[in-house]
Amino acid sequence: MSLDSGRFVIVGNGAAGTTAAEHIKKNAPGATVTLIAGEPYPLYNRVALPIFLRGRVQEKNVMMRTREVEEKRGVDMRLDTWVEALCSSERVVRTGDGEILPYDRLLIATGGTPRPLGVPGDHLHGVYQFQTLDDTKALIERILESRTAVALGGSYIGYELAEAFSHRGLHTTWIMRGDRFLRRLLDVEGGHVVDLLARDRGVEVIYNDWADEIVSNNGVPSSVRTTNGREVDADMVGYGIGLCYYTELARQAGLEVNKAILTDQHLRTANPDIYAAGDVAEFYDTVIDRHNQMGTWDNAVSHGRLVAQNMLGANLTYTEVPTYVTTMFGSRLSVLGLTPEQHPELQREVQYNFDTRKYRALFFYQGRLVGAVIIGVLKGRRKIEEIIRSREPVEDRRALFDLLGPVDAQEKLEE
Ligand SMILES: Cc1cc2nc3c(=O)[nH]c(=O)nc-3n(C[C@H](O)[C@H](O)[C@H](O)COP(=O)(O)OP(=O)(O)OC[C@H]3O[C@@H](n4cnc5c(N)ncnc54)[C@H](O)[C@@H]3O)c2cc1C
Repeated sequence: MSLDSGRFVIVGNGAAGTTAAEHIKKNAPGATVTLIAGEPYPLYNRVALPIFLRGRVQEKNVMMRTREVEEKRGVDMRLDTWVEALCSSERVVRTGDGEILPYDRLLIATGGTPRPLGVPGDHLHGVYQFQTLDDTKALIERILESRTAVALGGSYIGYELAEAFSHRGLHTTWIMRGDRFLRRLLDVEGGHVVDLLARDRGVEVIYNDWADEIVSNNGVPSSVRTTNGREVDADMVGYGIGLCYYTELARQAGLEVNKAILTDQHLRTANPDIYAAGDVAEFYDTVIDRHNQMGTWDNAVSHGRLVAQNMLGANLTYTEVPTYVTTMFGSRLSVLGLTPEQHPELQREVQYNFDTRKYRALFFYQGRLVGAVIIGVLKGRRKIEEIIRSREPVEDRRALFDLLGPVDAQEKLEE
């Protein structure tokens, strides 16, 4: 079989799937590339959903592709189509419409769906997850008729919701189970810097507590009752408590699934015709010599690019340093490489200043720099990435902070 004229089926048209589809078609114009999208939209920018939610950009600014662009590129895109079954012995997938699509190479780039909140009242109109464009539109509609909001969750999505609610002028309460934001990543001081940034924005933050019930008034939320007995006013509630990855197709093919789908460093599963990429791939990361899984846009795009070449017969190894960069109540948060979230025993060197709201932690493993988290300006970030990638031992750990500049200088950060 010549892969140049082979049949490639890609399930999921997020950053990983779309990038892979386009790269396959570009490198092998004779190939048939079918890109199956569970959602009704061509690729849109998930990372831009928070600024759409804040009202800083419009829906059209979030869209990244059109049907026409994909057609021109020769990608056969099926919108609003769910792949329900995979039969790896027959090398076919079946869609919800009953269509059978044969493949020579299959890519599973299915991402994940938010974990349900699971408390009484979570089904009310006015309680939202935040993962898709449709979620964002529903949130915006409700924001426009609300005065008070509660954001639930001590991770990135909980933060994005709290930021957007307060930016839109809602009286905002942010509730998390732990004693600080990103408690497995930040230490107490890092958590305090985020707390200060949130309070600067007028967000009330409640730690070590959780929603016990969302109290309803005529079918919409009126308050959140917490396990510690607080009653917090809420015309609407948004939550983010992690993703469940769409691994069902891999399970049907008998592939190994941990939290997500296990692959080697080439993003290939144990079945040589099936690959996984993006959020749903738990790939062997040669930078840190262990399996790793990253929920970041950059990672999904880089996976898409690399897996396209490997699906066409190359044997490239994934060596990117994973990064996650986001705003943080008018500041910036950047997470690079391996952190205590994946590996709690890393050694940590920290530098911070509460007045300037800056915080940096560098993470070391066996004498090497393996990761970092930075709140504040991102100067020197690329250099840090280079050092992580180089895998060279680091003699003078504190000297690395000089690359990032002083933490004591007050700076106006752009939003
Ligand atoms: C609100 C928000 C803010 C974020 N902010 C940042 C940020 O600031 N920085 C950052 O780096 N990352 C951020 N991320 C994470 C980043 O967006 C993701 O890591 C990235 O988009 C993952 O891309 P993906 O292609 O792997 O999966 P997804 O984008 O999740 O795409 C997978 C697609 O596959 C579809 N699908 C699943 N199963 C099937 C099936 N059986 N049949 C058909 N289709 C199927 C899904 O419906 C989905 O559309 C954010 C995410 C969200 C939700």
